[in-house]
Amino acid sequence: MSIKIIFHERYYNSRYAADPAASEGRLDGILDLINSKPKFYEVIEPVPATKADILRAHGRNHYEKIERQSLLYELGALAAGGAVMAAETAYNGNPSFAVIRPPGHHASADSSWGFCHFNNMAISLLKLYAEKKIKKAFILDFDLHTGDGNINILENRNDGFMVSILNPESTERGRYIQEVEDYMKEITDVDIFAASAGFDQGVEDWGNLLFPEDYTELGRLMKEYSKKICNGRRFAILEGGYNHKVIGTNVDSFCCGFA
Ligand SMILES: [Zn+2]
Repeated sequence: MSIKIIFHERYYNSRYAADPAASEGRLDGILDLINSKPKFYEVIEPVPATKADILRAHGRNHYEKIERQSLLYELGALAAGGAVMAAETAYNGNPSFAVIRPPGHHASADSSWGFCHFNNMAISLLKLYAEKKIKKAFILDFDLHTGDGNINILENRNDGFMVSILNPESTERGRYIQEVEDYMKEITDVDIFAASAGFDQGVEDWGNLLFPEDYTELGRLMKEYSKKICNGRRFAILEGGYNHKVIGTNVDSFCCGFA
């Protein structure tokens, strides 16, 4: 099995913001591992999300606030476009992982924080919903931090699109994995599995909880249950993860279970 990696060289640009997600060298370890396994990883290049794509998730004022900052807008639209491509790739039958930044799960319709600007996950799923490809989605958000933007935009919608979101809360690694599996066992009909894949819960990162093999298990659970429920349609997009020395190994570990 192989996996499609969505990546654009412009994501290396670290000048769009001064925060840990934007920091120089953060993506290098991930890409080094990806480039070392060309039979397993196939890298494809996204195009920016359109204004119409972004406005499905955001209010006009928030959009224009980002648009006024040209480099931030360029990279924010390109990150959202990477998520869109990951979702479309998954919809078409290939598991995918988008190595993108800035991240997005703390971006709500009219505001954002936590190194996020546009909500990449919401933009990607709302596009598939608008195109009548999906009606129900599941998001596993295993970042250290609760994805309040995903929740604010995607839960309890009044347009018919149904999204269920799990932000696991267990503070012991075995229970954490069990909590994820228990939740997935209860899912009966969704059209796509998505992961807000932050690696700041890693044992050598801020959260100090999950080992590389735990990320493999999270990926494997996404694969197993998506195959049972929605023909294996699954994608993941990068959120947090700040220890440059281990983020590559953690992403690779996840993908080994996910593919
Ligand atoms: Zn985080």
